[in-house]
Amino acid sequence: MGKCHYCDDGHIEVRNIKIDGKPIKLYACTNAQWIHENEVTELSKESTCSFRIFQNSLLRWNKKAIGEREIRNLLENEQITVRLYSSRAKSEYFKYAILDEEYGISIIWDEYVEKEEAS
Ligand SMILES: [Zn+2]
Repeated sequence: MGKCHYCDDGHIEVRNIKIDGKPIKLYACTNAQWIHENEVTELSKESTCSFRIFQNSLLRWNKKAIGEREIRNLLENEQITVRLYSSRAKSEYFKYAILDEEYGISIIWDEYVEKEEAS
């Protein structure tokens, strides 16, 4: 899908995993081997990189899933515009999201985004 930004030779691939019995996509670096066991996700000892983005990383802000196209865009441009939803205001809003070594993806909260930019 794109080059990993946190190690030399890794690239990001899609993996279909299950968490709590639910299928979910994990976008992970090829140098990161994740072990999913008993609802705990651990990095194997052989891994040399830990970068990954869970498909539902932005669920807390009511974005159900991050699509493969969004991930490709993010890896290429290091920033994408994401559509989020405020259940309090009952309206959607847009924010920039960037790569984050620890969380995979993070939202830039203090920057106002007018509307979704064509990407
Ligand atoms: Zn990597």
